Amino acid sequence: MSTIIDQYRIKKEPYYHSVADEVKLYEAAYSVRMPMMLKGPTGCGKTRFVEYMAWKLKKPLITVACNEDMTASDLVGRFLLDANGTRWQDGPLAVAARYGAICYLDEVVEARQDTTVVIHPLTDNRRVLPLEKKGELIQAHEDFQIVISYNPGYQSLMKDLKQSTKQRFGALDFNYPSHDIESEIVAHESGVTVDIAEKLVSIAERARNLKGHGLDEGISTRMLIYAGSLIAKKVDAHAACRVALVRPITDDPDMRDALDAAVSTFF
Ligand code: ADP
Repeated sequence: MSTIIDQYRIKKEPYYHSVADEVKLYEAAYSVRMPMMLKGPTGCGKTRFVEYMAWKLKKPLITVACNEDMTASDLVGRFLLDANGTRWQDGPLAVAARYGAICYLDEVVEARQDTTVVIHPLTDNRRVLPLEKKGELIQAHEDFQIVISYNPGYQSLMKDLKQSTKQRFGALDFNYPSHDIESEIVAHESGVTVDIAEKLVSIAERARNLKGHGLDEGISTRMLIYAGSLIAKKVDAHAACRVALVRPITDDPDMRDALDAAVSTFF
């Protein structure tokens, strides 16, 4: 039984640079097993943060990347057919609730609404997960906690979390780290010097100002790390920025030119 959950333990400390008081706040939230929502744009450190917290709290972490095809059964579990007939297989949420893991549902708003509803009974003081098809009610393990990520920038009227879901969570705001911290992160993760990392961050800052003015989303920390990794492999900085920063986020020729010009300002 313990081997099922042991595979989800994080053995090595993940590199995480705190940006404010999020570590303390999360520890307090975990101590009362408050369901948590990590809000912020993609690639700004939410997943890394939850990995770090799971390591720090010494709890296993089960991460589920949500998508629009995901059904409630993908989370909860299903009967499978095998040579001996049918057998039940717990889904990731059931494993987390049964054995006591932190369950991180990444981009939960992507999943269908029936999926979000299955987490409701786990988020109030009952802390139960009904396996309706199996006729079992899992009483969540005392270590279990549910964490979701949510990108407010993507939401439309059609795709948003219901208030009845949102109000079951405490929320921590994430954003791109400040200039100096982000430069340190990019240097650490990609292997470039802080000097080069700072230039990459400055390019991103320009692009982030264009969000809503022709860009749907700014250049993320993750993208800066990609660019830095190419530069660390001796790729020319202009080419690295084109490949990792500019081309992925826009197809618009004018916007490309504007971003390429920003790259030339710094390299
Ligand atoms: P999100 O889950 O918000 O989409 P990630 O957590 O995957 O983003 O962040 C992308 C990458 O950026 C991580 O793999 C990590 O290398 C880096 N990163 C972002 N913020 C931090 C931070 N505060 N400390 C350390 N690394 C970070």
